[in-house]
Amino acid sequence: MPQDQSRDAARTPALILHEDDLARLPASERIRYRLVGAERRYHANDNISAFVREGELEELKAEVQAKMAEVLKALVIDTESDHNTQDTAKRVAKMFIDEVFRGRYQPMPEVTEFPNVSRLNELMIVGPITVRSACSHHMCPILGRVWIGILPNEHSNLIGLSKYARIADWIMTRPQIQEEAVTMLADELQARVTPDGLAIVMEADHFCMQWRGVKDNDSAMTNSVMRGAFLKDPNLRREFLSLLNKKE
Ligand SMILES: [Zn+2]
Repeated sequence: MPQDQSRDAARTPALILHEDDLARLPASERIRYRLVGAERRYHANDNISAFVREGELEELKAEVQAKMAEVLKALVIDTESDHNTQDTAKRVAKMFIDEVFRGRYQPMPEVTEFPNVSRLNELMIVGPITVRSACSHHMCPILGRVWIGILPNEHSNLIGLSKYARIADWIMTRPQIQEEAVTMLADELQARVTPDGLAIVMEADHFCMQWRGVKDNDSAMTNSVMRGAFLKDPNLRREFLSLLNKKE
């Protein structure tokens, strides 16, 4: 977003930092410095793994742990005598970086693509794939299912079935909003598989609706992206949606 980028630019120190000075900064500052220098966006749902160097994730975890301890302190929780919260800051830091937000810090999983030698051109459906994410508004869990429809052509690259789940997991394990997650997944698959048509449906429960706010337990949100043949051909779209319902 242009506005955010200009704000980042304004924050960028005018002088170029020497590697030694850079090394003295906290890991998060170092990584941010590289991102800003490369004019790369680093929103909650962006992958920044290319800017993280070896060992820095451990440093990041220590930083998050220290800040998380401050949050607990600000919540007036006595983490010293309350044995349940003694290691909470550490646990949460590890959970954020190694688990629930790892799609920001880990590179894209290795996916082997192979040419469509048998020239498959039939509708392929993958799913339901269970996905776990978090909303970037409240950092509350989003638990859902994703279905992917692919209409390959003779030039498409095919990827193994299990790889769809791995790519979906990599995209979903970031704080985000569902509409953007579905679009990001579609972009990634479009670039890799280059099919004639691509359809994605995601249905998910948002815990920020259930745990807080309106406390509506039945509010599932459904999003879809239709591209290429799925956009042009209503029959194909119907076929995909009917097969998806049968698979439930
Ligand atoms: Zn939320």
